[in-house]
Amino acid sequence: MRKSNLRLSQVALNLAAGNLGAADRRMGIWTYGCNLACLGCTSAHTWKEPTAGKVLSVQTLISIAKKHDVNGLTISGGEPSLQWKQILLLVKEFKRMYPAREVGLYTGLTTDEFKSRCPELMNWLDVLISGPYITNLPPTPLTGSSNQEVVLITDLGKRLYQGWPEWPMNQLQIVAQRSNYAQRLTTVGIPDNRRISKALQMIDVNVVTKSWE
Ligand code: SF4
Repeated sequence: MRKSNLRLSQVALNLAAGNLGAADRRMGIWTYGCNLACLGCTSAHTWKEPTAGKVLSVQTLISIAKKHDVNGLTISGGEPSLQWKQILLLVKEFKRMYPAREVGLYTGLTTDEFKSRCPELMNWLDVLISGPYITNLPPTPLTGSSNQEVVLITDLGKRLYQGWPEWPMNQLQIVAQRSNYAQRLTTVGIPDNRRISKALQMIDVNVVTKSWE
């Protein structure tokens, strides 16, 4: 893979305020690949087939951001730090265009592990949400489990995320993805897994686990 290409499981537009970030109309990208294997991971499809996912260039992602005039960038995974060099290129270009728009990143590493793996990237983020997912801990408005840390790095991050623990819980959005071969719906956000399990027991669902056709 070229060094300016990212392997992704998903790109989503129009992320709502409070759903994985602060500003309305953000772009979200979900990187492919993770080696942490948290029990109960809801994104296991992003690391079980290493060559799956879709490869997009940093330039293509910047073009999408420009075309839709997105109001921020949220990066999740998978484990984004595995592709940190490409993400650094993306974030630098995004901040060059939109210095006052937020960039947030979710990692399964602890904050110290993330800083030591990709210190330069840390300098370009407004917010880092860090730590592994622990299935038996309750979620918060921004994290899947309460052990995960929300690190407000810049003044912009501190201003936009002020009072985040009081934000509404379990915001979910449906993302429609279309390819040459299929259409699929996914959800983005912090789900209430107990309620989703109950709902799935009540309806007959054909669950599609493959991300890209
Ligand atoms: S870090 Fe995230 S993607 Fe990786 S296994 Fe844990 S929950 Fe899943």
